[in-house]
Amino acid sequence: MKDYSYFDTLLPRLVGSQTGPIAPSVVPSAAFGYADASEAEGIFSGEVSKPLYARMGNPTNAKLESVMTQIEGGTGAIATASGMGAIAMVLTALLKSGDEVLCIGGFFGGTYALMTETLPRFGIEASFCDVDDFAAIEAKLASGVSLVMAESVGNPGLKLPDIAKIAALCRQHAVLFMLDNTITPLAVQGLEAGADIVVYSTTKNISGHSAALGGIAVFRAVEEGGKLYHPRYAHLQKIVQKMGRMAFIAICKKRALRDFGMSANAFGSFLTLLGIETLSLRMRKVQEGVETVARRLDARFPQGSIRHPSLSSHEHHARFGAAYPMGAGPMLTIDMGSKEAAFALLDATEHLIQTANIGDNRTLALHMRSTIYRDFTPDALKILGVTEGLIRVSVGLENPEDIAEDFINAYRKTAG
Ligand SMILES: *Cc1c(COP(=O)(O)O)cnc(C)c1O
Repeated sequence: MKDYSYFDTLLPRLVGSQTGPIAPSVVPSAAFGYADASEAEGIFSGEVSKPLYARMGNPTNAKLESVMTQIEGGTGAIATASGMGAIAMVLTALLKSGDEVLCIGGFFGGTYALMTETLPRFGIEASFCDVDDFAAIEAKLASGVSLVMAESVGNPGLKLPDIAKIAALCRQHAVLFMLDNTITPLAVQGLEAGADIVVYSTTKNISGHSAALGGIAVFRAVEEGGKLYHPRYAHLQKIVQKMGRMAFIAICKKRALRDFGMSANAFGSFLTLLGIETLSLRMRKVQEGVETVARRLDARFPQGSIRHPSLSSHEHHARFGAAYPMGAGPMLTIDMGSKEAAFALLDATEHLIQTANIGDNRTLALHMRSTIYRDFTPDALKILGVTEGLIRVSVGLENPEDIAEDFINAYRKTAG
């Protein structure tokens, strides 16, 4: 596993250039002129690798894709308009009506809605199970699901999946495994752990500045005779045979990016690249910050109300120590027991930003049940770990002692 010191050196070098303009260039052109008719033919056939039209990619997106590919150790990547764009691209490109997705653990609200409301309208069903219910996971894999999806850290339940074990089971059953690593860039190395596809909302910690909505999917090389050659993926065979190792890229570009147009824009990709330059520095600081805030609040709030895997009260504390040495991202949760107590606490803080976002350089918080999860059924809330008094906190880069003090003062003013 690569550590933060490795990324400290790698990231600024990857994003900048040694000669000519040091900062990445923004190429906002929507269209590109071809030198002559035969170059046009070559670009369309894929033999000439030059920009075709910005919906299919542009040079600034290509820079971001190359940087993320090297960070992940993948074979290629596709930048998208948002994190949901990346997830929707992968699912709509790879799956077909009649397929089933197995969703392991807690999920971001948008992903949950995509799986339970939107994809079913197109004949793609989803089933859900707990991160540690391996009996259910194995039964589903054996019954022939087409794709397994998990988040590196369940949102907002903060459960930690055993990523390597899930990946090994998916390999054994020849089922594709997609990991949403939005919460833990660098800290979790998804392709190395065995995922086939790692997706991100780059809007969050990867950018950090909240100035650019974006997403990306990074792909493993397709192995000759591997998973994608299984009969359940027969509908992809033509592209797999033609493109070999690079088949994921071709499938996603031809079957989703071209037809649905969830493409990234150059300026957004430029801003995302600026975030990546300092990502390892910021993720280290986030790890230290969230663990300090969790420890301080755990000592002052009612027993059991603070949840973070670094606390010994968390059910995955041992897994956190063993498999998440670089941290579990910026989130912790506070369960105030009731909506009223949660509202009172949030409104009594002085510096918090109340917003639906996470992974900002500033500390953010939100009451879950009355906002993102307002329309969810009791069953869904249970699966996702959303209780009536739950507040999600995303710790930023401020001095963690100041963040903790703000919460503790607010608690003293309201409940305490
Ligand atoms: C925010 C988020 C998304 C969606 O990303 P957008 O950029 O908002 O579309 C997906 N997954 C996770 C875990 C997220 O936090």
